Amino acid sequence: MYPRSFHYHRAGSLKEAVTMLGQLGKNAKFLAGGQSLIPLLKFRFANPEHLVDLSFIPGTSFIKEDSGAMHFGLMTRHSEIEHSALARRIPVLHDCAAGIADVQVRNQGTIGGSLAEADPSGDWANALITLDTTVHCLGANGTRTIALSDFVTDAYTTALAHEELVTEVVVKIPPKGSGGAYLAFKRAAPVYPSASVAVQLKLAGDVCEDVAIALGCVGLTAIRATEAETALRGQILNDKTVATAAEAARAAADPQSDMRGSAEYKRQLIVALAKRAIQIAARRARGEKVEGAHLYA
Ligand SMILES: Cc1cc2nc3c(=O)[nH]c(=O)nc-3n(C[C@H](O)[C@H](O)[C@H](O)COP(=O)(O)OP(=O)(O)OC[C@H]3O[C@@H](n4cnc5c(N)ncnc54)[C@H](O)[C@@H]3O)c2cc1C
Repeated sequence: MYPRSFHYHRAGSLKEAVTMLGQLGKNAKFLAGGQSLIPLLKFRFANPEHLVDLSFIPGTSFIKEDSGAMHFGLMTRHSEIEHSALARRIPVLHDCAAGIADVQVRNQGTIGGSLAEADPSGDWANALITLDTTVHCLGANGTRTIALSDFVTDAYTTALAHEELVTEVVVKIPPKGSGGAYLAFKRAAPVYPSASVAVQLKLAGDVCEDVAIALGCVGLTAIRATEAETALRGQILNDKTVATAAEAARAAADPQSDMRGSAEYKRQLIVALAKRAIQIAARRARGEKVEGAHLYA
């Protein structure tokens, strides 16, 4: 289906984009990579009268390291992160970017658009919540920085005001001895996962000093599996402690049955993904080079 007709505007700067959206009012939307918004327009689930294109604003697509953190511009495409040697230093980022949909979607979709969309099945929010991530925003009242845990407030809902823009995503580089993994289980490349697990941990010898575990696609937002984290923190990582944590992750999941599988099937996926992700994260924390790709049915 064709979208309903709309007026197309091209912003020349971040400030201009915010001003334009404020002036055009509630029936205006930002357009980034269009990989979520354009399908919604075509299905006529969204019918904005105005689109303000962010794609031509200079200096909005970058990956850089500064003051112990990695910085991503709002228009940084999934594929840029996938192929970035810098981003690979935080393996969760590479795992996540490389597994999103297919090449076409990864070449267009942006990290800023993905977080702003807050799709419960989207990969970025789940992967990034295990890291110390902040979202930098620009609105009518100036700039503000929001912790990712406070940014996504519900399914398809964020802390952003209508005319407020995500300008940058900042991820603190984890300390030495850390490792992470992001694993998603999918039926095919160009579909969202049935379930996903992100793990970020820090080892001191065989002991898990600290850990963050998040579950995706099994709730309205990414779920921090705090009981699973407790099961590992301060413990030696072995088959028993990993299995206990994976069972705690299953209990934290709150999935719905849908075309991607029954609720029970997704809970079972969480157990398997959690075990694998913890093991890969631990091996990476020990300095091993381990590939951790999305898994397909
Ligand atoms: C076939 C297909 C399969 C996909 N599979 C996956 C998948 O497996 N995993 C996954 O994570 N994603 C998947 N996606 C979605 C894809 O990752 C999108 O790129 C992403 O969700 C949205 O980013 P975008 O840049 O395309 O944003 P757009 O679609 O342009 O915008 C999305 C929303 O965010 C708003 N917005 C955009 N940028 C900003 C900003 N900087 N500040 C404030 N608001 C903003 C827009 O107004 C709009 O409401 C898939 C998409 C398609 C078409």
